[in-house]
Amino acid sequence: MTMHALSELAVALLDGSVRIVDLSVTLDGHTPILQLPEEFGWKQSWPFALEEISRYDERGPAWYWNNIKCGEHTGTHFDAPIHWITGKDHENHATDTLPTDRFVAPAVVVDATSAVQADEDFLLTVDFLKDWEARHGEIPRRSWVLYRTDWSKRETPSEFLNKRTDGHHNPGWDPAAITFLAEERDIIGVGTETVGTDAGQASGQEPMFPCHNLMHGANKCGLASLTNLDQLPPTGAVLIAAPLKIRDGSGSPCRVLALVPRS
Ligand code: MN
Repeated sequence: MTMHALSELAVALLDGSVRIVDLSVTLDGHTPILQLPEEFGWKQSWPFALEEISRYDERGPAWYWNNIKCGEHTGTHFDAPIHWITGKDHENHATDTLPTDRFVAPAVVVDATSAVQADEDFLLTVDFLKDWEARHGEIPRRSWVLYRTDWSKRETPSEFLNKRTDGHHNPGWDPAAITFLAEERDIIGVGTETVGTDAGQASGQEPMFPCHNLMHGANKCGLASLTNLDQLPPTGAVLIAAPLKIRDGSGSPCRVLALVPRS
């Protein structure tokens, strides 16, 4: 009798030959969030906040629970195509309507750690991706492309956001690399370790914020503020990343998990 793949997975999870890596950061009041430039910042995204309702006390003798508050794009989070104006007219493009096959999918990891150590404004290019493909094979369609930079290892929110007088500095994408991934590789989307999916200086790129503009324009998704990408193989992981089912939501914090074969 041949086992169904799902039964094999169940066995592998039990015997540890498939392990689960948590790619999510902890949400608390210090979780770094995007700040809008002043000319757009009439209202800023709320930082994560937690208000205790009761904790086995006079407010609620047997139960502990909290109210929570945050912007949709807080901590490790999902960007839906509706997030950007270029994606506004797609069908099923919001957190509640996205097809569920976007939420469980293979992932490849493109390691640009040394390039980013040399240049914190490094922009990932098509040549970089093709060099990766020469070593690991073609990026499969309907997969996530995770952009490893080790940026998540930066210890303080200020080092992570890396804001200077001329704005934020963190790695991002050459626009042609996004077009290549979206059009020629037909991926589900890209995931980054930085606060958003674009470079810190992306407001000055053409087009402005190319990852948001071109990915969501192609009805693709994004994941930001990922961590532990250094624990994933270049190929062979399966990602589980599902946003909260917010009606007409543009994104949501989410717990992102990777299933990884134990080497
Ligand atoms: Mn976002």
